[in-house]
Amino acid sequence: MARTLFSGNEAVARGAWEAGVAVGVGYPGTPSTEVLENLVRYEGVRCEWAPNEKVAAEVAAGVSLAGGRVIVTMKHVGLNVAADPLFTLAYTGVGGGYVLFVADDPGMHSSQNEQDSRRYAVAAKVPMLEPADPAEALAMTRAAFEISEEFDVPVLVRSTTRVSHSKGVVEVDGARAQVQPQPYIKDPAKWVMVPANARRRRIDLEERLVRLAEHAELSGLNRVELRDRSLGVIVDGAAYRAVREALPDASVLKIGMVHPFPRDLVRAFAAEVESVAVVEELGPFVRDLVVQAGVAVREVPLPAWGEVTPAVVRAAFGVLPLEVRKVREGVPERPPLMCPGCPHRGVFWALKRTKAVVTGDIGCYTLGAAPPLAAMDSCICMGASVGMAHGASLVERERPVIGVIGDSTFAHSGITGLVHMAYNGSHGTIVVLDNRTTAMTGHQGNPISGVTLSGEHTSELDLEALARACGAGWVRTVDPFDLATTLAALKEAIAAPTLAVLIAKAPCALLEKRVKDPVAVDDDVCTACGSCIQLGCPAISKADSGNAQIDVTICVGCGQCEQVCRFGAIVPAGPACDLGGSAR
Ligand code: SF4
Ligand code: SF4
Repeated sequence: MARTLFSGNEAVARGAWEAGVAVGVGYPGTPSTEVLENLVRYEGVRCEWAPNEKVAAEVAAGVSLAGGRVIVTMKHVGLNVAADPLFTLAYTGVGGGYVLFVADDPGMHSSQNEQDSRRYAVAAKVPMLEPADPAEALAMTRAAFEISEEFDVPVLVRSTTRVSHSKGVVEVDGARAQVQPQPYIKDPAKWVMVPANARRRRIDLEERLVRLAEHAELSGLNRVELRDRSLGVIVDGAAYRAVREALPDASVLKIGMVHPFPRDLVRAFAAEVESVAVVEELGPFVRDLVVQAGVAVREVPLPAWGEVTPAVVRAAFGVLPLEVRKVREGVPERPPLMCPGCPHRGVFWALKRTKAVVTGDIGCYTLGAAPPLAAMDSCICMGASVGMAHGASLVERERPVIGVIGDSTFAHSGITGLVHMAYNGSHGTIVVLDNRTTAMTGHQGNPISGVTLSGEHTSELDLEALARACGAGWVRTVDPFDLATTLAALKEAIAAPTLAVLIAKAPCALLEKRVKDPVAVDDDVCTACGSCIQLGCPAISKADSGNAQIDVTICVGCGQCEQVCRFGAIVPAGPACDLGGSAR
């Protein structure tokens, strides 16, 4: 038995591998992404990025149908996309073990909303396990496969950012279960959910839930830790660590299987302690179940949003806060900005000049909504920019409406929106920001970049051909570093009497670090007009004199600012230049 340091996501990958998983499939999304990125490193597992979570869940269903163990991964908002197959998979049940790993993001560190995936387990009537740390993440992932096969049901394993991304000591035994794929047995009554079969499986599902509830009471996934009996805290997931740190003497019922809920165990725990409180993130979920179990709950003032930290628990229970070090004063604020040399910058610069209503989407280009570019008006969910552009254009009469979407997001759920626009006779404009990668989650490949999860080059989706096939009558690809051409193309797309798709194609600045000589500002020529500063490049700022100044240590010489300076004040800062630059 070896001890190692794993993040929660690394531990889930290890647990899946040890469980003999045949396939891992998912869509990248922080904080879930690293599960598959780690699982792919193990021998004997096939790992794939899917274009979206629904497809991933369906691929996984196929693996399970054919008898293999499979893990499918996504973040909380992805579970909304995958919910359609999941709800019916609860009816069909599984062949090989089917584990759906979902990572919630309390506190919205990198998400557009908070969502409590525990409620999906209840709604879909499937079991959910909730690890509190990496060691449990490994053990519970293994256990989830066993439960899935024993009870013929998909199993959710729910993590949160704090569990997925924190490191902890994990014991690994190095062994991989030798799981032979179960032989395929044709069984339409189980797998073909026409109403007659679905009605039978619906009743089966209730029976499975009864057996799962018995399992929840006895399995050891839920743990009683008796200490000082004056206070008993019922806690699940990441909040467990916060409770242990803030209230080290309290007795604890740690819920590891949150659905079905162990009501008898809760009652037995309550009988052992003088008072019961519930600590959870994004509640009340556990609290309501405890009350339904007939246990009186001592109310503590926990927030209904955000993460439950030790400080939050201390405050809720009236324990004195720990002294924390003050943040050093004078540290400048750093608002999020697109990177120097980002290809999206030129597109948003041009979009601003069209005075269009710009419906945006999920990705690092969402930063186009931030000043100084401020050229994006909405951001709701993956793929929404396309449908919203169409909807807004049905009403907006004064200004053009343009939908902006990244390459991975377009493949995820933008294509169907484009089909809708063509089908309904839209003359609107969609811009696909093809930076050759899924940049926001850490440069995963996608069907448009044509790079697989294993790093192999494969078929690339031909965006121009696809746009035409969907019904766009005007399609063009531009280099977004060429600002004048990009603006002209945008104006042409807006004026086109047909559905128009403009593809702005250039690799992410971090994907291909093509660093040219930086540029610098010639103070004698600069008029302090501020046009270059409006680009929002982190390398450009305002000097005390009011002129622009460029930090040559982070400028990558992309040339966009040179194009917006009407006075020719921005010049190459190579070795021959006396403006302070240096060649790399
Ligand atoms: S050339 Fe201009 S826009 Fe490009 S990275 Fe350098 S300062 Fe920024
Ligand atoms: S655009 Fe040119 S003139 Fe205007 S502030 Fe920038 S460097 Fe100076």
